[in-house]
Amino acid sequence: MSPVKRLEKLYEGKAKIIYATDDPDLVIQYFKDDATAFDGKKKGAITDKGVLNNRISEHLFGVLAEAGIENQFVSCPSEREMLCKRLEIIQVEMIGRNIAAGSLAKRIGVPEGTVLRVPIVETYYKSDELGDPMLCDEHIFMLELATPEQLETMRETTRKINQVLTDYMVGRDIRLVDFKVEFGLHKGRVMLGDEISPDTCRLWDQDTNEKLDKDRFRRDLGSVEEAYQEVARRICG
Ligand code: UDP
Repeated sequence: MSPVKRLEKLYEGKAKIIYATDDPDLVIQYFKDDATAFDGKKKGAITDKGVLNNRISEHLFGVLAEAGIENQFVSCPSEREMLCKRLEIIQVEMIGRNIAAGSLAKRIGVPEGTVLRVPIVETYYKSDELGDPMLCDEHIFMLELATPEQLETMRETTRKINQVLTDYMVGRDIRLVDFKVEFGLHKGRVMLGDEISPDTCRLWDQDTNEKLDKDRFRRDLGSVEEAYQEVARRICG
């Protein structure tokens, strides 16, 4: 099979660029080093983040596929490129949580680090303009972002992803605190897309609770590149 050709840019986000290819069912995700936080108000770059996030995402999509969770991943044509099934992204961000941190700790007034009695799944509107507000099911249906069946699939899959990734990371001395996943429609079916990386997960060292994720950038904790490299080392071997 001849390699897929990268064609025009379809979309540029804060951390990735999506390119069309000569196969209408496939796109290329290009991982950049750019980092933003607080709705784009804080900007910077993390050396080699794109390479590391591509490698970590490739690995975790593989782990999920083995566990029966269908996803967009096809291959990595280069260290910053991921060839993916083309998805029409559903504008709902699914957040899974095991330990209170970030916006949850703030919103409900529990100390960061509190272990949740049961994992939580939350839904947010993927809208930079509105600052990604939290949505309840009725909002999602009113805005026609997803049907009840699609939302149920996304919620159940997010719970399963949480289970699979938590188990996988425990064996690698990482606590999966929380994470964000996005889904899209591929030929009418709901499928996991986007990326799974230290940009989109909170990952703490199992023993010391040292933060090994984007919070090091958000909160100016230093050693940001080193943390991403450490996650790649522990996850990808
Ligand atoms: N997250 C993300 N993209 C977003 C919002 C959140 O990847 O637009 C991830 C974030 O890195 C964390 C989890 O989702 O792992 C939960 O984030 P939270 O709601 O606590 O928001 P934050 O405190 O990051 O603003």
